[in-house]
Amino acid sequence: MNVQLIVHGGAGLAAGNHHSAVMAACRAAVAAGLARLREGDSALNAVEIAVRALEDDPLFNAGYGSVLNRDGQVQMDALIMDGRTFQIGAVAAVSRIKNPISLARRVMEATPHHLLVAEGAERFAAEQGIPLVSPEAMIAPRHVKQTSSDTVGAVALDSAGNLAVAVSTGGVRGKLAGRVGDSPLPGAGGWADNALGAACATGLGEGIIRALLTFRAVSLLETHSAQAAADAALAIFGQKFNGEGGLIVLDRHGQVGIAHNTPYMPVAWLRGDDIVAQVQQP
Ligand code: ASP
Repeated sequence: MNVQLIVHGGAGLAAGNHHSAVMAACRAAVAAGLARLREGDSALNAVEIAVRALEDDPLFNAGYGSVLNRDGQVQMDALIMDGRTFQIGAVAAVSRIKNPISLARRVMEATPHHLLVAEGAERFAAEQGIPLVSPEAMIAPRHVKQTSSDTVGAVALDSAGNLAVAVSTGGVRGKLAGRVGDSPLPGAGGWADNALGAACATGLGEGIIRALLTFRAVSLLETHSAQAAADAALAIFGQKFNGEGGLIVLDRHGQVGIAHNTPYMPVAWLRGDDIVAQVQQP
């Protein structure tokens, strides 16, 4: 089976001077995950690797470089989901974790729970041997000039036909302390089902939660192609829920769907033998 990996770098306004660097980073994240998929590694590992790369890049609003809340702090959310088992791991409102996506993975694999938040999630991280960093260490100087939302996400299909999704974000700038968006909520920020496909959302989380955007998009794959499902889910999101954002969709055959109603959403994926990166819909 052909493998596929799509990443997005967040729906929002244009990245301005950072555009080329954003596209290069999205392309590099796909390359990192694809290398593993081509070795026969799992979709779960591929999406985690791709999202970790973007979390480490201060260009994006995830991990290091996340936006600040109203109190001037970073509080991050992340989710990973396995389309084969429907297992889910997520964390919310964590401030002291360098790579929230890997903590989410640990929640999935080492607890009977799906979502851990704040200090409890950080205590679990420490128990698991994941180092806690100071909250200030997650603040990158460039947050001052960040204009776009820049959340990150990835969906992948591996050679065994398994689908997975990963999403990581600092949320929305100036949010109330304790605000949790769509990203760590299954069916909202991400959803994966081997029988249909996987999807990952970005944009204003409150609307995505109301629309259950990614569950909706994956459900539409029963009758729609990947692109048609992305378009139809986005249309409902915009019209019925007044939502602003976008999503990436991957069906179980590796077909790609990309849609957004914001001016900008960098995306990279494999087309033929090449990794393509673009902001417009394919
Ligand atoms: N969906 C994220 C949130 O609301 C933000 C984003 O995608 O830019 O937390």
